[in-house]
Amino acid sequence: MDDTVDVKVLDNENTISVASTFAGHHEEIQDRDHSFLQKAVEEAYDGVNCGHGGPFGAVVVLKDEIVVSCHNMVLEYTDPTAHAEVTAIREACKKLGRIELSDCEMYASCEPCPMCFGAIHLSRIKRLVYGAQAEAAIAIGFDDFIADAIRGTSHYQKPNLEIKRADGNVAAIAEKVFKDTQAKFQMY
Ligand SMILES: [Zn+2]
Repeated sequence: MDDTVDVKVLDNENTISVASTFAGHHEEIQDRDHSFLQKAVEEAYDGVNCGHGGPFGAVVVLKDEIVVSCHNMVLEYTDPTAHAEVTAIREACKKLGRIELSDCEMYASCEPCPMCFGAIHLSRIKRLVYGAQAEAAIAIGFDDFIADAIRGTSHYQKPNLEIKRADGNVAAIAEKVFKDTQAKFQMY
């Protein structure tokens, strides 16, 4: 396995070297991240297969357990804001009976758009792991607005949120979603 560490904690570069010293621990985290991210990718396929919306999935995890696993519901709900991440936050809050998810992590099949990124902050989710880079979605016709969040202004960079981009292998699996679903999914 590639031993490069792709943990990015905004404004805390030291985390990279700390993570490297605990290689075993790091691998455990990687496996865990991969399996939850894989679930989010499966959701992305499911959403297109059942005609609910675009190829995007998001999973909310609390203490190693999946709270909710959702996909884009824009077409099903006739709601342009029903992105996978927003839907997952709404469903997780409903299920847990509270409005903050500070002990939860989110796994998103693709880099969140600014709206979802805002929702992630408002819900106080502590950690975000995403698979595909926004460019992969933009390449098949999604609004380039979605690339504006994480690489956008410092407005989105809050110290209490750890953001991790999947490594090459998992990112490729996540990005493949767009190619695989392109013919099936009708752009709105
Ligand atoms: Zn979004």
